[in-house]
Amino acid sequence: MADTKYIFVTGGVVSSLGKGIIAASLGKLLQARGYKVTIQKFDPYINIDPGTLNPYEHGECYVTVDGHEADLDLGHYERFLNVQTTRANNITTGRIYQSVINKERKGDYLGKTVQVVPHITDEIKRNVKLLGNKYKFDFVITEIGGTVGDIESLPFIESVRQLKWELGKNCVCVHLTYVPYIAAAKEYKTKPTQHSVKQLQELGIQPDVLVLRTERELRTSLLSKVALFCNVAQDAVIQSIDVPTIYEVPLVLQRQKMDEVILRKVGLEVGPTPEMKPWRQFLQRKSDATETVKIGLVGKYVELQDAYKSIDESLLQAAIYNDRKLDLHLFHSEKLNDDNAAELLKDMDGILIAPGFGQRGIEGKFAALKYARENDVPCLGICLGMQCMVIEFARNVMGLKDANSTEMEPNTPYKVIDLMEEQKNVTNMGGSMRLGAYDCVLKEGSKAYEAYGQAHIQERHRHRFEFNSEYRDRFEAAGMMCVGENPESNLVEVVEIPALKWFVGVQFHPEYNSTVVNPNPLFVRFVKAAVENKK
Ligand code: GLN
Repeated sequence: MADTKYIFVTGGVVSSLGKGIIAASLGKLLQARGYKVTIQKFDPYINIDPGTLNPYEHGECYVTVDGHEADLDLGHYERFLNVQTTRANNITTGRIYQSVINKERKGDYLGKTVQVVPHITDEIKRNVKLLGNKYKFDFVITEIGGTVGDIESLPFIESVRQLKWELGKNCVCVHLTYVPYIAAAKEYKTKPTQHSVKQLQELGIQPDVLVLRTERELRTSLLSKVALFCNVAQDAVIQSIDVPTIYEVPLVLQRQKMDEVILRKVGLEVGPTPEMKPWRQFLQRKSDATETVKIGLVGKYVELQDAYKSIDESLLQAAIYNDRKLDLHLFHSEKLNDDNAAELLKDMDGILIAPGFGQRGIEGKFAALKYARENDVPCLGICLGMQCMVIEFARNVMGLKDANSTEMEPNTPYKVIDLMEEQKNVTNMGGSMRLGAYDCVLKEGSKAYEAYGQAHIQERHRHRFEFNSEYRDRFEAAGMMCVGENPESNLVEVVEIPALKWFVGVQFHPEYNSTVVNPNPLFVRFVKAAVENKK
């Protein structure tokens, strides 16, 4: 295909409408037609990346293969497209300004006054086009975070306006809004949508396609009204009704021919409608599953919907590939202790100990692990979850009383988890962890090897602390084996207790690498072990 086509996705009325899912679903539909598609997110905040934001602020921090701490929408993009993203796929206001200011300091602006327009907007536009020019995608879908009208997103919207002008036919603007139901009037209301489109028009952008989020099916007359008032063709008003799973959204959009509308707009041939076979098979398997598998997720952010997004999705995918309905139970680690763990966790077929930072809730993770280990309940520990497995085992099996991670207790007598050597001189908190994909070699015969079906794997990381190798022999003598390590640094990446049915801890984050058509093997095996445990 000759020119890269650029699609912008903006949102109006309220936030949390699921722009990321709409962008990912549209990307999926275009990809199914054979196009090379990537999706990018612009976040209008000043942080350089979300790595320094806590989950209360920003939900999960996703990590790309190239070690960028990114917005969780990139996780959706990867899960839908099954294509890896990089740091070029997530840009914040902070990064834009940082790069402009760096250029200013170098003298690149040759004495000019540096301004939002054109310098900031040029830098934004450069980052949009980079994906098309450098990586040769057919479609670059750019999601603009926030809601139209926010002060913060103005430079991004202005850049879209300029690009629309520059790119002409090669540019499409999709605007997502909300159509609320007013119970007292028994009516759906389009006024907020009209206002939101007006606001976009005031900023110089006429949307080409509108996607209306709604709880139930909207009447055609209502869609016509939106088309008329918003200057949008009737077939370009798409409704996105709430569906039981986000993975149905591509099919919802396909039924309304959203991809065809876009293809016609950019002057590409429409051709036959793709069957989306693997995608439909996945959904079929999901709806065919009748039996459940009960998984307990132990973490300190369980009350937050998005804090463990990739773990939730990986578990869901793994359950479907085991032909089970996922019955996920959330356990707040601050509320678990040795006295109540057995009672609270007794019905779980499998237990997952979540990643995390800091002391809060850590003792509850030990209690859950002790219960799982003593009762041989399949268990997966991820990152801090793996480190907790090591600490619990040290304390309760090896008799190393008060063993700990130096993250929690710098003066612990037994530093079974310790700061990585390379981290000792790190002072900046941003982007300074061990981040991104690293090699790991698995021991043949281990549960992890069995799961992956091969010795050489690559998974993504986000940590500062590590298993202290000085203790390795003592752990192995006591029955906890180090079965995966980095071939260069010998850093221990995987531990397991072979005497148990399935008890595996991983320093890496397998959840960042699980997609609809390519579920992560470790999750699939963990859920399989949980299913077998149930029997
Ligand atoms: N806090 C731990 C470390 O930095 C674990 C990090 C995590 O779970 N992502 O090593």
